[in-house]
Amino acid sequence: MHTDKNSSGVRVRFAPSPTGNLHIGGVRTLLFNYLFALKNKGRFILRIDDTDRVRSKKEYEDSIIGDLEWVGIKWDEFYRQSERTAVYENYLDILKEKGLIYECFCDEEDILKSKKLAIRSKKPYIYGGRCLHLSPEEKEEFRSKFKEKGLYPSIRLNIIKIGLNSIEFNDIVHGRIAFNPKLIGDFILKTEDNRFTYNFASIIDDSDLNITHIIRGEDHIPNTPKQILLLKALEKNIPDFAHISLLYGKDGKMMSKRDLVSNIDYYKNEGYLPDAILNYLAITGNTFIEHKDKTDRNIGTAEHEIFSSISEMASAFDITRTKSSSAIFNEEKLKFVNEKWLINTPASELINIITEKFSRLDAVQAAPSGSSKSLMSKLKETYPTGTSLEIIDFLKQEFKTIKEILEELKIFFDDFKIKANADNINNNKYNFEDLKSLKTILRENIEKTAEFNEISIKNAIKETAAGGNKTVKDCYETLRLFLTGKLDGPSIIKIAVILGKQRVMARLS
Ligand code: GLU
Repeated sequence: MHTDKNSSGVRVRFAPSPTGNLHIGGVRTLLFNYLFALKNKGRFILRIDDTDRVRSKKEYEDSIIGDLEWVGIKWDEFYRQSERTAVYENYLDILKEKGLIYECFCDEEDILKSKKLAIRSKKPYIYGGRCLHLSPEEKEEFRSKFKEKGLYPSIRLNIIKIGLNSIEFNDIVHGRIAFNPKLIGDFILKTEDNRFTYNFASIIDDSDLNITHIIRGEDHIPNTPKQILLLKALEKNIPDFAHISLLYGKDGKMMSKRDLVSNIDYYKNEGYLPDAILNYLAITGNTFIEHKDKTDRNIGTAEHEIFSSISEMASAFDITRTKSSSAIFNEEKLKFVNEKWLINTPASELINIITEKFSRLDAVQAAPSGSSKSLMSKLKETYPTGTSLEIIDFLKQEFKTIKEILEELKIFFDDFKIKANADNINNNKYNFEDLKSLKTILRENIEKTAEFNEISIKNAIKETAAGGNKTVKDCYETLRLFLTGKLDGPSIIKIAVILGKQRVMARLS
């Protein structure tokens, strides 16, 4: 889904650094930008922040793009910072003409010394501006030393010269935020290895690409005054900012890129639908509609927070309702949302989604049969279309994730050896030999049925129970064990009907 081309002037961007895979918190930032663009008929821009040549990797860029595609988010424009150095050079020249930047020859050791000094005097480290006051001769001397080493002087912004007493902005989520420019310190725009820094490249792009709203994680709040200083220095418009909470686990710890559950692959492997993930992330820390009980207590995810499409979600989305408190990630709630999305997605669509987006999970589930065929192609091969849809429709009402559906789907294929044996009965409720003899009677009674449907199977069970001096429940369990190899699962009568008489008879043999 592309954002509306009849642009309203609203332009937002998602700007991942390709220094690692996209994590779930990143997906939330991405989503908030996307929903905001959709809601305001604006444009959604994807920008790859790859100025860090050492840490940026093409494989991460590919994986991030793959993940955006997987969740179904499409962008209207695409940029890569590594291809925009001419733009940054140009703006650096403008700042130079204005006399707002200077060369800095401090090396790591100099900076470390100042930092240690700051720690000792219990003050925050702020660059002291040593190189601002170098004489032309000193500068010349440093320049030639740097040249010998193959280094460039770094370029710093002269903050005091910009002449602001305070830097203030109205954050959409946090309200008014103010910084004292004197406490920021002249920061680096270009490094000694000739690389543009994040703060410079990012805000130059935001300005040059006419970004109207910067929606990003709140860990970027300390960068915002630096970026506003640069815009002021260049006499550019200041965009609106919305710094959204980072995601925290139930334990209160921030979800970091290193956590398994932060990785989007985890959600693919667990079988969560992309739309359900988006729906869940949208309502986490962003209440669309107040949902409180009589005592004004927030009672969490409600049915009405389940959307039927991303565009419906976008129309309901209101960035100003985003809470500034921590957004807590709760997998149980995600599962609840996923369950609802599964029920609401037609079976035919679900088959397409599994084929296109869960092929790896499908392959993992299919592997034990020894065949290289996916479960979805097996389904099509084994059953007529109507029955395939019936099976998926049945399973999607019973299970909460695609993984669970695929696990259960296997019982409909004959090459997944259904192991009905004593090992399956790990409680002492049943004796395997008893069940085996019950099965023989059950088989005879089912064989006799003229028609094969829910009623006739139920009658065969009743008859078996009466004849074998067993309870109806015993007979159900016997049928389940020999048809599926398990002692629990969804309606066994329904499963038997779908399997058909032939398969049922074979499995009871
Ligand atoms: N590349 C930055 C990041 O991944 C982007 C921050 C921003 O949105 O300005 O954190």
